[in-house]
Amino acid sequence: MLAGFGVSRRTDPRTGNVILNRGDVEVVVYPGKSLASVNGDLRLLSGRVAAEGGRVLVPVDAAPLLLEPLLDVPVRWHPGPRVLAVGGVDAPRVEVETEVFADRVKVVLRASERVPFRLGRAEGQVTVAVDADLIEVDFQQRRFTGGIVDRVQYLGGRGNVFSIFLGPRFKELTTDDDDPQAFVLDLAADPLPVRGDAGAPGAPGLPARDPETPIVVIDPGHGGENVGAAGPQGTLEKVVTLQIARKLQASIVGNLGYRVFLTRDGDVDVPLDDRAPVANNYKADLFVSIHANGFPLEGAAGSEVYFLSDRASDDVSRRVALAEGGALDDRPRGDSSPLSMILWDMAQAEHLEESSRLASRIQEELAAVTGSEGRGIKQAPFRVLVGAAMPAVLVEVAFISNPDEEELLNSTEYQWRIASALMRGIARFVVQRQQRLGASAGR
Ligand SMILES: [Zn+2]
Repeated sequence: MLAGFGVSRRTDPRTGNVILNRGDVEVVVYPGKSLASVNGDLRLLSGRVAAEGGRVLVPVDAAPLLLEPLLDVPVRWHPGPRVLAVGGVDAPRVEVETEVFADRVKVVLRASERVPFRLGRAEGQVTVAVDADLIEVDFQQRRFTGGIVDRVQYLGGRGNVFSIFLGPRFKELTTDDDDPQAFVLDLAADPLPVRGDAGAPGAPGLPARDPETPIVVIDPGHGGENVGAAGPQGTLEKVVTLQIARKLQASIVGNLGYRVFLTRDGDVDVPLDDRAPVANNYKADLFVSIHANGFPLEGAAGSEVYFLSDRASDDVSRRVALAEGGALDDRPRGDSSPLSMILWDMAQAEHLEESSRLASRIQEELAAVTGSEGRGIKQAPFRVLVGAAMPAVLVEVAFISNPDEEELLNSTEYQWRIASALMRGIARFVVQRQQRLGASAGR
């Protein structure tokens, strides 16, 4: 091959070194050593030079180092497709452009010449292969927030593969290959019932953009020593409630622009009686306590949403309330003043009608995900809800005691589906309440 470029070659009989010449350029390689020299300058190679019979083998990544000065043309080694490109090889260039919208992400692969793009699907990914021996790609990867696309990455390999890793909000892919030099992918999000003001989400801890921005406090059940219920495989309620609460927070902030606070954002035990006061301190518009049911009822499955009552709607509800840390009438006496207990009780009593509406909206959305239309809104004397001075509900998202649901609760994808359903229920409640308030103000 080198002879074709006008390169002469000889072996020094004394040292065994191989000497390559073209014009006044001299390259020497040293068999058995990781060395070469170009016009007298030593170059370190990534591996040893081997001489076998009449052939000289150099590490392939060293070829450009030696051949470029010798041949005086561009030489490149492409490790993906394992191609050494010498001189006139003109590989098509592929560039990646991305654009992010509130409800979709657009990814465009644009080539410098006509190339065949091949679409593929894999678990959690959309792939595009470029059918060419060799392409030039500068792009490595780009990450996204917003939950539709997680990242776009060039994986390379023989197929020259680009991969789009999908996020939890991804719903639908449409493609457009009308332009033979471009491949357009449009990745749309799961549509939301309420279009949030996505331009300016009120991040936690920051002053509200607008005094009307709703404030939500999420209470991840249990924590620390108080592990809650445990599944047959050992999954702990305190772990999944926090995982779901964080996803719900991200989903509400990202999609609705509300302000969201958690009663705990770590593995700590916050006393039941301190949780609703967190919401009161933030002057929250609503309070949602998240749990996973550990009630040992054969075949029990699905979600339930509770709001407060001094009496349980049925015996099972009463026992669930007891399992969740106690009912109103078993509060320890003497650890808070009777007066404040009465005031807190009255605080939630004022909001029971709104709490039942919030429970309904959430359960309607959850039932579509969990398939638990048969369960529904229940009332029980949950101690964690007693002090809330705003609409407040307790959600048992699934039965952690049920092996199938325990597995679902451990799945990130299912946690996102639960969080999305809770977010939609909250959004519908807030919008309907604003309409009710608007209607009564207009009278
Ligand atoms: Zn619980």
